[in-house]
Amino acid sequence: MERYDIAIIGTGPAGLSAAITAKIRNKNILLIGSKTLSPKVEKAHTIQNYLGMPEVSGAELQTAFTDHLADSQIEITEDKIHAIYAMGAYFMLQGSGANYEASSVILATGVSAGRLYEGEEQFLGRGVSYCATCDAALYKGKSAAIVGFSPKEEAEAEFMAEIADKVLYFPMYKDEVQFSEENTKDKIEVIREVPVSVEGSMKAERLVTRDNSYDVDGVFFLRESVSPAQLVPGLKMNGNHIEVTRNMATNIAGCFACGDIVGTPYQYIKSAGEGNVAALAAVSYLDQKKRAQK
Ligand SMILES: Cc1cc2nc3c(=O)[nH]c(=O)nc-3n(C[C@H](O)[C@H](O)[C@H](O)COP(=O)(O)OP(=O)(O)OC[C@H]3O[C@@H](n4cnc5c(N)ncnc54)[C@H](O)[C@@H]3O)c2cc1C
Repeated sequence: MERYDIAIIGTGPAGLSAAITAKIRNKNILLIGSKTLSPKVEKAHTIQNYLGMPEVSGAELQTAFTDHLADSQIEITEDKIHAIYAMGAYFMLQGSGANYEASSVILATGVSAGRLYEGEEQFLGRGVSYCATCDAALYKGKSAAIVGFSPKEEAEAEFMAEIADKVLYFPMYKDEVQFSEENTKDKIEVIREVPVSVEGSMKAERLVTRDNSYDVDGVFFLRESVSPAQLVPGLKMNGNHIEVTRNMATNIAGCFACGDIVGTPYQYIKSAGEGNVAALAAVSYLDQKKRAQK
């Protein structure tokens, strides 16, 4: 497996800025996220405080960012990372589509609003999961509830339906749900109800909504971002944010973080600036490591 110098997780202003700086510093980078970049950029109406771009719309900023990536010959690997493990000399990243290795990592995954559901943490790893494609094999002949926070998750529900007997899909968005795979359509039931809790005894056994209770073998919560503490075991947090030094270093050697994920104020330019600092710090970390090995 190819080992990248720096894996950057997240395609908002923080991750993109980190990627551009790391590329200028000739590092072999892996930028993981979405080719549509960040919904927080795409959906912004008018932005008045991005340097050099007065009164820019989110869509225009998104295009400017995409063009900058293309100019810098940076490709985005479309994937969602579910876990990152520090292996000593490198990091192992587990995605929905593949696993990756990198000598250092920059977390730029933003913050997601919303609280955990009752029972979600209690049954995590015991019937509650955040990655349908990673765990689908465990659901052969079984049933699963999937709570999807964006239309992107419909593909995960379809993948699960190829293996499981029954998939209950709870869309947490208003768009019409559209499944494209003919062979799995009959196995998926779309339920427009609001989940409240996960219940069970030794493991998750049902998803309870405001109106009903559904017996299932597993429950998947597919959000835009995974909470940092779940993403990287052992990461030191400060409330909901990752604790970092002035150089954007976390408590784990070789792991850096930037943008909304490290704290307020939540601003594009702060995120982009911190992405730049995190990339320079990662480059310096790699150079020091190389010198120590000589
Ligand atoms: C409607 C709106 C308007 C705003 N207006 C302004 C404004 O006018 N001025 C201003 O300065 N700020 C504004 N903000 C705030 C600004 O959007 C944020 O501060 C900024 O987007 C943060 O950038 P970021 O890169 O840290 O995170 P984000 O932009 O949130 O990007 C994080 C990215 O990481 C991806 N990701 C998360 N987890 C994973 C994972 N596990 N694997 C792979 N990818 C992952 C996400 O999908 C997302 O694309 C606004 C925000 C909103 C919502």
